[in-house]
Amino acid sequence: MMELEITKDIVCMNPACDDYGIEGGGNVLVRRRYGADGIRFLRCRRCQAEFS
Ligand SMILES: [Zn+2]
Repeated sequence: MMELEITKDIVCMNPACDDYGIEGGGNVLVRRRYGADGIRFLRCRRCQAEFS
């Protein structure tokens, strides 16, 4: 399943990224959700960093 959502309320957590800490940058995608809690697995389009 290729569900990609752009999140406006989550920022990149990679300090080396140009979008680090910038809200509304629109570069962080939700790659998938997992678990009963719906934890989101995120990826930044700019620096390709992945985090959750
Ligand atoms: Zn980033």
